[in-house]
Amino acid sequence: FRTWEVTRTRTTCSYCGVGCEMDLLVKDNRVVGVEPSNGPANSGLLCVKGRFSYNFINHPDRLKTPLIRKNGRLVEAGWDEAYGLIAVKFEATKAAYGPEAFAGLASARVTNEENYLFQKMVRVVFGTNNVDHCARLCHASTVAGLATTLGSGAMTNSIDELLRSDVIFVTGSNTTETHPVIGAKIRQARLNGAKLIVAEPRRIDLAATADVFLQITPGTNVALFNAMMNVILEEGLEDREFIAGRTEGVAELREVVMKCRPEEAALICGVDAENLRRAARLYAGADRAAIFYAMGVTQHSTGTAGVMALSNLALLCGNLGKESAGVNPLRGQNNVQGACDVGCLPGDLPGYQKVSDPRVMEKFQTAWGVKLPDKPGLTVTEIIDRAGKGEIKFLHIMGENPMISDPDLNHVEEALKHTEFLVVQDIFLTETAHLADVVLPAASFAEKDGTFTNTERRVQRVRKAVDPPGEARADWVILMEIMNRLGHGKTYRDAASIMEEIADVTPQYGGISFDRLEKETLQWPCPSIDHPGTRYLHKDTFTRGKGLFKPVEYQASAELPDGDYPYLLTTGRILYHYHTNTMTGREEGLMNLHPRSFIEMSPLTAQRLAIRDGDRVTVTSRRGELTSTARVTDRIEGNIVFMPFHFADGAANLLTNSALDPLANIPELKVCAVNIARL
Ligand code: SF4
Repeated sequence: FRTWEVTRTRTTCSYCGVGCEMDLLVKDNRVVGVEPSNGPANSGLLCVKGRFSYNFINHPDRLKTPLIRKNGRLVEAGWDEAYGLIAVKFEATKAAYGPEAFAGLASARVTNEENYLFQKMVRVVFGTNNVDHCARLCHASTVAGLATTLGSGAMTNSIDELLRSDVIFVTGSNTTETHPVIGAKIRQARLNGAKLIVAEPRRIDLAATADVFLQITPGTNVALFNAMMNVILEEGLEDREFIAGRTEGVAELREVVMKCRPEEAALICGVDAENLRRAARLYAGADRAAIFYAMGVTQHSTGTAGVMALSNLALLCGNLGKESAGVNPLRGQNNVQGACDVGCLPGDLPGYQKVSDPRVMEKFQTAWGVKLPDKPGLTVTEIIDRAGKGEIKFLHIMGENPMISDPDLNHVEEALKHTEFLVVQDIFLTETAHLADVVLPAASFAEKDGTFTNTERRVQRVRKAVDPPGEARADWVILMEIMNRLGHGKTYRDAASIMEEIADVTPQYGGISFDRLEKETLQWPCPSIDHPGTRYLHKDTFTRGKGLFKPVEYQASAELPDGDYPYLLTTGRILYHYHTNTMTGREEGLMNLHPRSFIEMSPLTAQRLAIRDGDRVTVTSRRGELTSTARVTDRIEGNIVFMPFHFADGAANLLTNSALDPLANIPELKVCAVNIARL
């Protein structure tokens, strides 16, 4: 575009948790292009999704008016009618069943300000702590694990620091596809001389350049990490000064990991014992070794144990509290970190302040001027289960699509249909919105102001570039109007004024304001207006005081292959699509490249089943059945198969297992048993 033809608005990408800064190019109130800007997370880079996926903003499928279900069909309605119906159903539900019949699912896709108002609405207006969001499905085990061992569940270091790491250990993350700009920086670090260890079930792109690649069986992370620690202790490679000065519990750790012999672990994990030893020596031998992990570690019935084991490994080698090291969970969606920070969790008010703490409750009751519920609420998985039992009557879902993203979709559909009143607020008529009683049309990221917090705790501005289509409104406006209608009104003049309230009640955000964010981005903790923000955590002391070794033992996944279902299915993302495909599914270029679901299988599996590359196949588990297309590849080995979960045709989560991690309630999306047959 010629520069005089377009205006530019600097904003933050709405896809993954990297948080790339970009300029939206606008002509005649339409976004017509995207250019990267030199943001702190992306240094002028954008991946294919960020660079080319903006057509969804102008897509004709965008919701433009509220919809109300009448005679079984969703029909167009005005805002006043939609709000009026919500008010009537709210009063009737409250009178008949009380506050525990309400629940809300917030969104990792909308701004901090909107998530803050959402959890406030559920607590103040609905009168319950039944509020959660999709962090429960991705990093609940990180929050539970790292909060226990370090005192904070956040990524410890900054993305750019990895360029100066000596060793990078990537595990449970296909980084070049799921967080592409971080993947590019890992490649750059590799060229700078960093050593690379990769532990992944598939031969991902990063494996090709790794110094050690461990092609690990899904669900066996704890065995691997414990055995690495066994080698480190056996060979005296631990950081004794760090352990003595800054940690507690090493004796208990030693007792557990000394039982985890590398040869036995190698058999469990399906890796070579000598490679496992090499990985341990490489990691322990570095001055600055950084761990990067994602859902390959967290989405297990033993997800919290996996996170704790990684934390133990970093503590053992003194790889915390310093630059270019750390334990770095890569958040999946653009604002999953922020949605957690501002209180969209059933036990936590903004800033991870516990509803079970009477001093916290007093503080928020004073700030918000109402009596608040003090019983921790239900998690996503519990909300769905209780809805299925008819106990959750009124459910409000903002910007999430559990009909594709949650495990065991047949169960989810049954549960959502069981609610008496379902409100869905979104930008498209998603698979979930199709089941709603009221659908509220929301503005996209390009049509509103606010902030996102990326995976490295960096709070960045989202800026309005164009008007929303039709009568669509920003989520924060919709929430404010619902709260006003339900009698608990407070008028916010704009998103900046909501951030002022967040800063007042959230210690980590105490020094963050839109005025400051005009000039800089800020990484929390940023407790005061003169605080510069925090590049890496736990510098002189851990958030909890001393770093805690929390020994954990390996346990097998809840469901393993057997005679009826002999293949192990693991799920994940691909480069060209995002989450439940509501946005990337409306990008012609991306859909031309990857239009449908597929299942990757090894040549061995294909041969056994007489399946050729491109054949249509049926895949079944104990929970459901789908059809998909076979991709035969040596990226994957043995009886392990892989499916992306993005696609509604052949939705992988029809098959997945909702078995839960007992500490974090995260479902085991990464391992279930399936059978496959050629169609
Ligand atoms: Fe957007 Fe993530 Fe790609 Fe950056 S890496 S452009 S944040 S999808």
